Amino acid sequence: MNYDVVVIGGGPAGAISAKYAAQNGAKTLLIEEHASIGTPVQCTGLISVRALKECGLGEGNFVLSRIRGAFVYAPNGEEACIRGKDIKAYVIDRKIFDRELVEQALHNGVDILMKTHFIGLDNGKISVMSNGEKKEIHGNIIIGADGIQSCVGRAAGLPRCEKFLSGIQFEAPYIPKDPEYVEIFIGNEIAPGFFGWAVPFSGMARIGLARAPGRPALYYLERLLHHPVIASRYRGSRMEHVVGGIPMGPPRKTVQGNVILVGDAAGQVKPTSGGGIYMGAVCAKIAGEVAARASRKECTPGEYEKKWRAIIGRELEIGMRIHKSLGKLTDENLNEFIAFVNKPEIRELITEHGDMDHPSVLMQKIMKTGNKLQLIKFMGVAFKTLF
Ligand SMILES: Cc1cc2nc3c(=O)[nH]c(=O)nc-3n(C[C@H](O)[C@H](O)[C@H](O)COP(=O)(O)OP(=O)(O)OC[C@H]3O[C@@H](n4cnc5c(N)ncnc54)[C@H](O)[C@@H]3O)c2cc1C
Repeated sequence: MNYDVVVIGGGPAGAISAKYAAQNGAKTLLIEEHASIGTPVQCTGLISVRALKECGLGEGNFVLSRIRGAFVYAPNGEEACIRGKDIKAYVIDRKIFDRELVEQALHNGVDILMKTHFIGLDNGKISVMSNGEKKEIHGNIIIGADGIQSCVGRAAGLPRCEKFLSGIQFEAPYIPKDPEYVEIFIGNEIAPGFFGWAVPFSGMARIGLARAPGRPALYYLERLLHHPVIASRYRGSRMEHVVGGIPMGPPRKTVQGNVILVGDAAGQVKPTSGGGIYMGAVCAKIAGEVAARASRKECTPGEYEKKWRAIIGRELEIGMRIHKSLGKLTDENLNEFIAFVNKPEIRELITEHGDMDHPSVLMQKIMKTGNKLQLIKFMGVAFKTLF
């Protein structure tokens, strides 16, 4: 089998890369190890309105609910309401969503091999196990969109992401305070170094957390379920368990020879929220387009690295610094932080400029107000990259 571009991984980043490679004239093959697209799900499925557009989809039947804002709970229980003027995000069904993205790729002429597991690279040839049989495939350019573990990245000798968080989640009947608002729980007793969440949809919620390495995630999940807010709304029972990793901080290099990494494989995930669909989509479009041209020797694969870093590199760098600064805060600092967010002038700025895909924009707006010193106190190192 000979292809111009071979994409490993049928998640969002793989499907979008494959579609763009085909649209740019490359004979493209998409390989997925599972028997069906979109399973197992390792996601809360909260994506911004902008992310959906970036993926080239409208509001399809994968949209389960619409989200306008968030209630954030400090360790001392104080609530901050972050209100958006319009619908800011959707809660989606990842199985249907991922499938639609792959269908789009197929409609653009991409070939697909399911139940086909990438096992290695050998002299430019890709070795796979396809339905129990070992096969070799040739691709001029190989796109590794194979998620957080990225066998493709390891086979090409590319470095790994800066750090990994582990996440845990389940779905359960839930009566939210407001079905258009997600609930976020911060504090070192619940989710050290990150946060817990309850994301409502259709009388249910995805309840979970991600946290820095330490005690088992399940230990913190039990604590989250005893939080007074969750305990009063959670109706018991647990379905659709998810355990998964979230990469933080892209590796130094995402291209080696004719291999390109994209999505979680390249650590293209927002370090402030753990969301990877938006940034993965932005980079997948570039990966597909560059791979198609590089397969015809019209450019080098290295153009991809330059292009994606020029577009989201700084946002990721600032996000990583915000993530590290917030991770160092004590519960007392976090209480002060929520009290700060609750100041009327800060709430107004959040409503006006809050952007879940680009939090650095809001940070810069706050820095320009008389509240600079307080923000420097909370954000420490992150501040230095902004001014
Ligand atoms: C608990 C949790 C909650 C999250 N919530 C959100 C959220 O609300 N919003 C958001 O934007 N992001 C969220 N994320 C992150 C999001 O799920 C990922 O960023 C996103 O799925 C990355 O897409 P991808 O295409 O790069 O990789 P993946 O979606 O991981 O897809 C990789 C694909 O490659 C396939 N594959 C892997 N290895 C091989 C191989 N050797 N051979 C063939 N195929 C292979 C896999 O089967 C898979 O289909 C969350 C993550 C976790 C863990």
